[in-house]
Order: sequence, then C-alpha cells, then structure tokens
Amino acid sequence: MQERLGKLIEKIEAARLKYSAHHIIKLVAVSKYANLAQILDLYNAGQRAFGENKVQDLRFKSQGAENLPLEWHFIGHLQENKINALLAIKPFLFQSLDSLKLATALQKRLENSSDFLNCLLQIKTACEENKTGFAPKNALESYAEIAQNCPNLRLKGIMTIATNSSDSREVEACFKAARAIFEKIPNAEILSMGMSSDYEIAIGNGANMLRIGSEIFNSAR
Ligand SMILES: *Cc1c(COP(=O)(O)O)cnc(C)c1O
Repeated sequence: MQERLGKLIEKIEAARLKYSAHHIIKLVAVSKYANLAQILDLYNAGQRAFGENKVQDLRFKSQGAENLPLEWHFIGHLQENKINALLAIKPFLFQSLDSLKLATALQKRLENSSDFLNCLLQIKTACEENKTGFAPKNALESYAEIAQNCPNLRLKGIMTIATNSSDSREVEACFKAARAIFEKIPNAEILSMGMSSDYEIAIGNGANMLRIGSEIFNSAR
C-alpha cells in the first residue's frame, strides 16, 4: 500500500510540475475500499486526509482511528436522515453538498448547535443520470444563495466528478466547466476533482484537491 501511494505521489508530482511549480495539491485518499489496518499503513507513510462516501463507514473508520490526527472528508450523497450522524462525526470537509434543500436542512440542524460545517458545492458537470449536484448554469447563483442564507455552512469551493468516459476530451470538458465556475467564485479555495482514472487531466485543469481510491487500495487495477 505504501509503495502504491509512493508511486501515485510521483505521478501527481510530475503532473503538478507540468502544470505549475507554484500550484499546491492535496491528496485525499478515498478509503471506501480499505480497512482500518490499510488506513493505518498509509498514515505511517505520511497520509493524513481520508475520504468516505457512506456515513456509517465514515463513523466506523474515524472512530477506529480516533487517536490519530487524521482529516476526514465525506464525499458521498448525504440522505437527510443521515444528517445528524454526519454532523456528530464533525468531518473536516463535506465535499458533496448537492442541493439547496440539503443545505437548508443542514443549516437548520447546525444553527441550534452553533457548530459549523466546511462544505464544497458539488457541480454536476457530467451528463450521466446517476450523478447528483448543481447544474453548472445555476452553480454561481446557488453558491451565493447558500453563502448568504446558511451562515453555519462554510463554503470553501466546489467539487465535481467527471463523466465516466474513455474519451479524455469529454472528461476534460467536465473539468474545464468546473474550473470556469471555480474562478468566478470570490474567495473559493478548493477545486476538488480528479479520481484514479482521470487525476492527471484534472491537475492539468487546475485541480487542487484529488480524491483517489482504487489506484491506492485496489490491487485489481
Ligand atoms: C469512490 C470515489 C472516488 C475515488 O474513486 P477511484 O476511482 O477509486 O479513485 C472519488 N470521488 C468520489 C465522490 C467517490 O465516490
């Protein structure tokens, strides 16, 4: 696992230098395919940020590793009946805020507690039916609306999942669409895009946060 992580970091670094030596990129290791022992192994290699897409897995793994200074990211679709469970975990970043309805529901829960939740707005740049998120044409308006009406949600930028295609031009079109939105948002810090199959394209289009799972954990790849 450590060796795979090392190889991945070398490839990320090469793509980063090709893009810009001044660009800083954070790698979130998506541990949805991993067990606690594998997470610990990566921790020992220096990895600190981990991502999960199911609330119960996030709870189990973050509790199992609670003595370690890890940073947990939630990257999956959040059902409203799981809001309290997610908030109790106090994740470092909720990357998949995908509707105004969900933002309102989170804000309601948070304002009683005076807690805050760091969030990314998920943008649906791919046309697949099964993907969730804000349509690119509504993204800026919705971002501003949430920033205004949901003071306990701290918007840090945007996240997108590119289309699942072997045609790199189609993938790149998704990343370019996300980047164009990102650049129009004042004070946005995080542009989260790029997974195992497309992170080099994402870096070439300005991604500063990658979410990579199978390239690290799944030896079948
Ligand atoms: C699983 C997942 C990833 C990582 O995908 P890999 O192809 O395994 O690298 C990234 N983002 C989200 C939202 C995911 O659910």
